[in-house]
Amino acid sequence: MHLKELIYSLKTGEAILHYNVATLEQIKAGILAVQETKIPLIFGVSEGERNYLSPALVKEIIDFYKKDLPIFLNADHSKSFETAKQAIDLNYDAVLFDGSELTLDENIKITKELINYRGDKNILIEGEIGKIEGKSEIQKEVEVKKENLTKVEEAIKFVEETKVDLLAVSIGNIHGITEKEPELDFERGREIAQAVKIPLVLHGASGLSLEKIKKCIEIGFKIIHLNTEFRKIWKEKLIEELGKETVTPYKILEPVVEEIKKKIVYYQVRFQDSGS
Ligand SMILES: [Zn+2]
Repeated sequence: MHLKELIYSLKTGEAILHYNVATLEQIKAGILAVQETKIPLIFGVSEGERNYLSPALVKEIIDFYKKDLPIFLNADHSKSFETAKQAIDLNYDAVLFDGSELTLDENIKITKELINYRGDKNILIEGEIGKIEGKSEIQKEVEVKKENLTKVEEAIKFVEETKVDLLAVSIGNIHGITEKEPELDFERGREIAQAVKIPLVLHGASGLSLEKIKKCIEIGFKIIHLNTEFRKIWKEKLIEELGKETVTPYKILEPVVEEIKKKIVYYQVRFQDSGS
């Protein structure tokens, strides 16, 4: 199934987990999770993450498993036309062009160029509007200015002019984990979802309570990005395993993979039904 069909087949209260990877162990954890749950999963690779493994190699690895599993690959936060174009050339399932640091007009212009370049290929293009603060790390505090949240009128203009398939917005969500849980403007999210009528993407769900994430899913967010939370597990469990006697890599790494896999399954199951 193509990613577009999958997203449009989701019922109210359902969403897909987007999970970032840069190493074989992280990929393995995602594969094991999907083998267990049979629930679709989107693997995300930011520019830094895909350059670490090589953009083409990541695609090859995901394709290897894709024959039997409902998995997809997204070129997360492509900051330039060139890096987004590269992912289109490699036939990724989805590409996020992140022009959120550009002016609205420039963002619209480049996003439109990408949509044209994509042509009739089966690749979803995600646009981003409004500033999502923070980075995918543990941070003490991240300030979110009210005026940087996505404005409804700008979202409408952006979607109408670019014809993007998916839209990443800022309703107070931030990248990374901070000491205090971010406050979300659900009303803003609801207004945008109803106005643009395309699926919204929630970035920076790490550090948000399950309750808040589920509220976003009810509003119309269909893809939920979690990254830092898994990075944190990766580091903490790795340190713990490195403290043991063995020098055998797979014995050290296996429990790390297992720990991440458990958390992926946890979210996959909870994003699937609107129950607990
Ligand atoms: Zn993001």
